[in-house]
Amino acid sequence: MTFAATVLTLYPEMFPGPLGVSLAGRALREGTWALDAVQIRDFAIDKHRTVDDTPAGGGAGMVLRVDVLAAAVDHALAAHPGCPVLAMTPRGKPLTQDRVRELAAGPGVIVLCGRFEGFDERIFAGRQVEEVSVGDIVLSGGECAALMLLDACIRLLPGVMGAPSSGQEESFENGLLEYPHYTRPVEWEGRTIPEVLRSGDHAKIAEWRKRRSEDDTRSRRPDLWERHVGARVQSASGAQREVQDD
Ligand code: SAH
Repeated sequence: MTFAATVLTLYPEMFPGPLGVSLAGRALREGTWALDAVQIRDFAIDKHRTVDDTPAGGGAGMVLRVDVLAAAVDHALAAHPGCPVLAMTPRGKPLTQDRVRELAAGPGVIVLCGRFEGFDERIFAGRQVEEVSVGDIVLSGGECAALMLLDACIRLLPGVMGAPSSGQEESFENGLLEYPHYTRPVEWEGRTIPEVLRSGDHAKIAEWRKRRSEDDTRSRRPDLWERHVGARVQSASGAQREVQDD
């Protein structure tokens, strides 16, 4: 089944952009995913094709009009009924690999890209739009965020990545950062590849990788580590309860 990506944007010429090359580009040409970049301005209702207006309450910048946005979302939903609608905004829930995995397993996504000060707030409840952030940074528009989201989904589609196992060991797939990698040359500017990786002892290598994955997550991402440890404790007590229930 083709994963249908609909992007609602003031700059449709930004798509597929980087998603037209490499693995995503090949998958697009092969029909593993489809892209429809839709010009929001086509849904403007006045003769000047206005998409924005000044913020209620005053202040700098312009806000995307809810009636125009709703018409664009309705158009996309008519073509893809039941498809999740996501708006890119720094006020949204941080995007996670778990959510990406869910989206990639579904029929596709409709992605709303903001510009200027962003969206009229009423669009989110009015059309069941999920607000998504790609990090605690502010971009000039939602298009780069949409490209990130789509790239993350597309690489998980069946057949897009070469070896299926290469997706499973990545960072976040088990709640941890991935272990570090090395390749030839064995020595570079006096720095060598860790001995164990050259030992050929697969059990030892697996153990080293697991430890580095845990150590690096603990020191670099205490937030991820805490969640990982919490989930382990929870699943252990869940298993205990099952035993007691028997
Ligand atoms: N006034 C807004 C920022 C608007 S930036 C605020 O302070 O919250 C313009 C557009 O860029 C947004 O509407 C959104 O679509 C996109 N954008 C900026 N930062 C983003 C982020 N971290 N994640 C997702 N989209 C982002």
